[in-house]
Amino acid sequence: MPLDEFDLIRRYFTRATPGAALGIGDDAALIAPAAGLQLAVAADTMVEGRHFFAGADPYSLGWKSLAVNLSDMAAMGAAPRWFTLCLTLPAADAGWLADYARGLFALADAHGAELIGGDTTSGLLAMSIQILGEVEPGQALRRDGARDGDDVWLSGPTGAAALAVRQRYGELALAAADLAHCAERLDRPVPRVALGRALRGLASAAIDVSDGLAADLGHIARASGLAAEIELALLPQLPLDPAVQAVPGYDLARLAGGDDYELCFTAAPAERARIAALGAELALPLARIGAMRAGRGVTVRDAAGQPLALPRAGFNHFD
Ligand SMILES: [Mg+2]
Repeated sequence: MPLDEFDLIRRYFTRATPGAALGIGDDAALIAPAAGLQLAVAADTMVEGRHFFAGADPYSLGWKSLAVNLSDMAAMGAAPRWFTLCLTLPAADAGWLADYARGLFALADAHGAELIGGDTTSGLLAMSIQILGEVEPGQALRRDGARDGDDVWLSGPTGAAALAVRQRYGELALAAADLAHCAERLDRPVPRVALGRALRGLASAAIDVSDGLAADLGHIARASGLAAEIELALLPQLPLDPAVQAVPGYDLARLAGGDDYELCFTAAPAERARIAALGAELALPLARIGAMRAGRGVTVRDAAGQPLALPRAGFNHFD
């Protein structure tokens, strides 16, 4: 028996929302941010064929569609609180919806984020989430706060998701264990929310790496009116068989692959000890990968200090 829209919402997406004054079920939800806090608002859409392959695992889609939004909260130093979900579905498949909802709520529950509303439509598979978080006025991690001489930091290795995509296109033949790691990073990224919260008052600027490390650091550089330099030798290696480092395009995947959802942030050199302690506390391999300088654009230097000649593809919005 086909499910109608109201059955769908009730069966898979209606949950208790103690953090909202009114949750799912009326024309709009009602929320009251804590006194004195600002609302941080972001939205992200994923479309089949553009952001994920046809036939993708629904649990992973549920997880990732929220993860990319939580990552934007992390990049702002905001605490995620509420989100809305707009689902466009080719058919109301009960098994698919149950798995999608499980993936979505697994991550939502881990971060105390409540689904308070949304919409369902029929059409090509797509999901759009708007998320709302809270942050203290003046404490949000913005892109425009980097200063000349600041260190550039990265919360973990980049490039795994891009390698998984290349393998799915038949361009690589990673060993099974390496592919499993890369596919996990692509399909179920872990948003660095606790890190983002802990960087309030410590980082001068931050962004989450969604488009590729160099391009996203370029956004910080442009917004801050500075140049950024990355030292390739300081970039964390992926925890894969070292042979993968010889794969053509390995460095390009780390610098421009995208879909990593690590945080890239800047901080004064005086904060190095505090940041190292924070990495130990959160069990994250925080790596200092470069510095902010006067000028514009992003430069990547090789081990000999020479600027790396990189293909233009993937780097068009460098500066
Ligand atoms: Mg972002």
